[in-house]
Amino acid sequence: MTMPEIEILGAGVFGLAIAYACLRKGARVRVLEKRRVAAGSSGGVVGALAPHTPDNWNEKKQFQFDSLIAAQDFWSDVDALSGVRSGYGRNGRLMAIADDRQLELARARVESARHNWKGLAEWQVIPVSEAGPFAPVSPTGYVVHETLSARMSPRGACTSLAGAVRALGGEIVEGTTRDMTRGQGADATILCTGYEGLEELSRELGAPIGKGIKGQGLLLAHDAHDMPQLFADGRHIIPHANATVAIGSTTENEWDDPVSVDDQLDAIHEHAVEICPVLHGAKVLQRWAGVRPRGRRRAPILDRHPLRENVYIANGGFKIGFGMAVKVAQVMADLVIDGKADIPASFTLAANMG
Ligand SMILES: Cc1cc2nc3c(=O)[nH]c(=O)nc-3n(C[C@H](O)[C@H](O)[C@H](O)COP(=O)(O)OP(=O)(O)OC[C@H]3O[C@@H](n4cnc5c(N)ncnc54)[C@H](O)[C@@H]3O)c2cc1C
Repeated sequence: MTMPEIEILGAGVFGLAIAYACLRKGARVRVLEKRRVAAGSSGGVVGALAPHTPDNWNEKKQFQFDSLIAAQDFWSDVDALSGVRSGYGRNGRLMAIADDRQLELARARVESARHNWKGLAEWQVIPVSEAGPFAPVSPTGYVVHETLSARMSPRGACTSLAGAVRALGGEIVEGTTRDMTRGQGADATILCTGYEGLEELSRELGAPIGKGIKGQGLLLAHDAHDMPQLFADGRHIIPHANATVAIGSTTENEWDDPVSVDDQLDAIHEHAVEICPVLHGAKVLQRWAGVRPRGRRRAPILDRHPLRENVYIANGGFKIGFGMAVKVAQVMADLVIDGKADIPASFTLAANMG
């Protein structure tokens, strides 16, 4: 079988991970990025690879679970090839429990995790006093401790992936794109163009497929190294390998400037210190903003382009793009190279148009 030549537009985590998976299957791959590697939503600081709750199981949760489980070997292979550290570490997560109702729910989920996570990860409810030195303030005195969550450096992961793509013979060309109205440059083209791609597709199809939701996050100098990440009151607090702690994120439906930061970030910072007082006084190293690509159904959109032959779409990572990227890469490589893939029905373009 002759392997196709594949062109990928966009060098965020989706484009790079798909390029890597296609190269692993033996295809020839070129990535065209109109700015530079990780110039979009993937160039941030937060980096939580965290699951949805283990109850009310559905195809999206299964897909995410498969991706999170496969991530350990995936990132270890990518880092070994590139010689760059993605910062991946499966250190688990502690979640504050706000009230008695949440405590009851958290306890019920112990059994759901046992069933749906199949012994590959655990969900427990423990007293906060047993949760170690990097624990969140928790009003009930209890926290969830789950062992499925991991962390990574988003920018480091993209640098590592780009290195691995090049090590496998793939080409990445920055500062360029292809005008698709003038035809293709390869046997197949995969559009991984983030929120701009969703806006373009919405215009092209005359239907709102998705849009950009801005987010801001920040990075503090604090060494909590391999401690579990924290989630409380909608805030992610993520210890990274390099003696930093990331805090995220705002969710902004309306925005003018995709990369500006403002006082919403100060509010998030203050809130995080209330949740995790050991961060008080930690120096702010970086303030960052980006625009997440959100599909109408808040799930990835993985499909063929409905109007263009041999053109494919991989988009809609929204808030969990890094956590989903490993499985997204696998199914997109299967779809483009083998012509078929096990993609949930809710991830199709049709599902996002209805
Ligand atoms: C503040 C914030 C915090 C986040 N935290 C997390 C988290 O903790 N965990 C998690 O899993 N996810 C998180 N996310 C979401 C995650 O970052 C995204 O889901 C993911 O980066 C999407 O990757 P992508 O490759 O689809 O898009 P992008 O990274 O946006 O990449 C798209 C790329 O395409 C390029 N491009 C656009 N148009 C063209 C064109 N015509 N030709 C060529 N190139 C083009 C752009 O320049 C860009 O580089 C967060 C996002 C934000 C903003």
